[in-house]
Parts: sequence; structure tokens; C-alpha cells
Amino acid sequence: MNYVSTRGGAEPQEFCDILLGGLAPDGGLYLPESYPQVADRLDEWRGLSYAELAFRILSLFITDIPPADLRVICDKTYTAQTYRWCRPGRDAADIVPLTMLEPGFHLLELSNGPTLAFKDMAMQLLGNLFEYVLEKRGETINILGATSGDTGSAAEYAMRGKHNVRVFMLSPEGKMSAFQRAQMYSLQDENIFNIAVRGMFDDAQDIVKAVSNDAGFKAKFKIGAVNSINWGRVAAQIVYYFKGYFEATRSSDEKVAFCVPSGNFGNICAGHIARMMGLPIERLVLATNENDVLDEFFRTGVYRPRATAETHVTSSPSMDISKASNFERFVFDLVGRDATIVRQLWREVDAGGSFSLAGGPFAARLPDYGIVSGCSSHADRLATIRDVWQRYGQMIDTHTADGVKVAREHRVAGLPMIVLETAQPVKFAETIREALGRDPARPAELEGIENLPQRVEVVDAAVAQVKDIIVRHC
Ligand SMILES: *Cc1c(COP(=O)(O)O)cnc(C)c1O
Repeated sequence: MNYVSTRGGAEPQEFCDILLGGLAPDGGLYLPESYPQVADRLDEWRGLSYAELAFRILSLFITDIPPADLRVICDKTYTAQTYRWCRPGRDAADIVPLTMLEPGFHLLELSNGPTLAFKDMAMQLLGNLFEYVLEKRGETINILGATSGDTGSAAEYAMRGKHNVRVFMLSPEGKMSAFQRAQMYSLQDENIFNIAVRGMFDDAQDIVKAVSNDAGFKAKFKIGAVNSINWGRVAAQIVYYFKGYFEATRSSDEKVAFCVPSGNFGNICAGHIARMMGLPIERLVLATNENDVLDEFFRTGVYRPRATAETHVTSSPSMDISKASNFERFVFDLVGRDATIVRQLWREVDAGGSFSLAGGPFAARLPDYGIVSGCSSHADRLATIRDVWQRYGQMIDTHTADGVKVAREHRVAGLPMIVLETAQPVKFAETIREALGRDPARPAELEGIENLPQRVEVVDAAVAQVKDIIVRHC
């Protein structure tokens, strides 16, 4: 399988060649040159374990790792031990249990990994793939990132203790919850470096950009990233759409709908690809919070990324995104994979502008992709958390609540709706207390992690200070 850039200006490459990089050299995103068609394999795949299903699906996309090795990587990634942070009554061997709230309305629990958010599903695989590929090539990588919470911790837990990988993760000093800080800063692994920046998330992000734009420094210190545009992450996420489908149906001629809480369009992009591969997904429901850039597009055909200053700070913070970094992948498919059109559209976006497909041929094709959308506010979130707790006895986190709220607006009689649960409530305890007047439960092993010794260096929002730390540790 070869990968091409959405902007058409990169040589086709195989999986391992694009795994460690970020953007394609022409500024586009990599996608497989075609989507494998699997509609006639669904019966055979139904009932496979998660690791085996992951192997079957990923081997269609990863053709430059010998199958026996890829199978070992999948088996080692998707273990009940790694995804053991289930709520009581669930079986960790399922990896992603499906919980029925009422007939035809389900939650697919994706947050049973070590950092209690769905990003572990893909990031844990990436950790094992990185280690494998770096070892084969005799290379090392220094991952540099900025986080406001979920991504950084998922990356650190995936890369901790891995050979040939170091992680330098910047976070805004004092802006994450005590639980999130403890999750990251209590890691004592020698290859993990937490850097708290005196400033906001955007200051940390700017430093990452500045370091990555210094080509000399980047090459010398082998700086890499694991941000949400990484194709390996999208590929890993395709698997659980299949798993959710098999759990919610009895036969492979049934259709389902998925609802996906969205920020960067990464998670739902994987759903779009699963659908393009022939998984019978009738509807993909996209849910945003107050940052409704994507909802606006699917309602009006206008894509208008917001300035960072316009981004709302919300109680579902992992969706506080003003520019959806994976959206270009979907638009590439929508415009018939015409890279010239994508280049034109993103010339506007990259210059801080917007584009409109309204009234044109591509907007007319949108319904073929099955995506509908809606948005959710803080008040909706509180009401939904309360309602789901009272009605079904299930505690859901703020992002999942946005999903449930919008899913309810798009239910169709006879079509099972599967809402992707993207985090456990304990990560967003403050809002849970506001909604329910009680604390979310936390896994026993994580009791008191706030009291463990922490390892973090605090710096000013200055590029030189961060570079200095990297130089010192490499
Ligand atoms: C990252 C994240 C999202 C958004 O996922 P995208 O792939 O960026 O659309 C939603 N919920 C939680 C809890 C997250 O961590």
C-alpha cells in the first residue's frame, strides 16, 4: 500500500516511511492511494478478538512490515492488561466494551487505556510501531509536543521506556487539572521529560512550532511529533468502528450510526474511512462543543477556521479546536481526490482565510458521505450528564456528553446509534461535580496519584530554554 499527499506534490511512500514524519513535504496529509474494500470479509471478521481484528485491518494498510511481526505488535498492544481501566461490570478482555443505554442506543467505551481517554487506543500502537521501526533502522527520535492534557499524557504513556525514543512534552504551568498533572508529571521513566511553560497552551504550541521550524536543530536532534495528523493514529482508530459494528449487530447486512465527539476531525476521519471500506455505516454524526467550526461546515458548506483568540475555553477542553487538522483528508475524498482543488482551498486556509463549497457540486455530494452534525453547550453538557446518570445509572464525561446530546437529535427509528465514549469522567471531575453534586469514581490503582513525587522542569515561554533542555538530555 502506498500513501499519497492530499496536495499531490509528494512521491508515493510506504507506511514505515511516513510513520515517523508529520506533514507531507508539500504541506499536505498522507492518505492511502485507495481504500481496501472489505464488505465481503465482515462475516469472517465478526467474533475475532480485538488484537486479531486490528491485525487483519492494519495489515491492509501496513504492507511493509512482515505480517508475523505486525501480528506480534498488535498482540502486544491490545492486551487486557493495558486496557484494564474498565468500569465495574465490564470485561477488559473486550478492550472496547459496548454498553447499551437503551435498545438501539449504545456507548462504545474507548477510554479504558492507561490515560483514560480514547487517544490511548491509537497512541499505544504508535509506541510499539515506533520502537519496531526505529530499531530496524538504527535510528532515534526525540518527540516534541505541546499539550493541554489528553494528547501529552497518551503520548508519554505510549512511549515510556521505549528504546530510541525520548519525549519532551510542554504543558502550560498550572493550567491542567491536578489529576492530569499527576498523570504526566509522576512518570519517572528516563526517556520522558515534562516541561511546564510559564504561559498558556498557545505559548507552548508556539515554542514547538519555532523549534520544528529551525531545520538545522530539527535535523541535528531528530525532532519528531505524534500529533493528530499522524496517519498511524488514524489507521489504528479505524479498527474500533468495526468492533463496535460487530457488537451492535447480529448480521452484516444491518446498518448502524456512529456519533463522534470531534475537535481535530481525527476520530471521525477514521469512521469515514471505515465507511469507505464498506462497513455499513448509514450515518456518521459529528458532535462539537461551543467551538463549532465543523458543525458549521456540515450545515452550511462553509469552512471558516477561527483565530486562536476566538477559541472558546469550554468544559470539554479536548475539543477546543479552532482549526481541524485532519479535515483536509475528508475534503480530499469529497472533491474526488483532486489535489489541485485541495491545494487551492488550503491556500486560503493557510493564509488565515476560509472557503465555501455551498451551492457547488461538492456540497451536493456531501450527503453521499453520510455525515450530519450538531453542537452542544455547557448547559447541554450538564443536562446530558445528569440525564444519563438518572436514566441509565451511567456516569459519562463531558466530551461523551456532547456526543450523546447530538446523537439524540439524529436518531432514526430502527438504526442502532453508537456513541463513542472518548474519556472517563474522572478526568473532568469539576464539571461532573457541577452536574451531579458528587465525585466521579476513579480506578483504585489511581487513588492518590496526586501525592506521588513529580518530575517536571519549569521554564519561561522562551524557545531558547526549551532547546537548552533538549540539548542537555540528548
Ligand atoms: C482528542 C479528544 C477528542 C477529539 O478527538 P478528535 O480526533 O480531535 O476529533 C474528543 N474527546 C476527548 C476526550 C479527546 O481527548
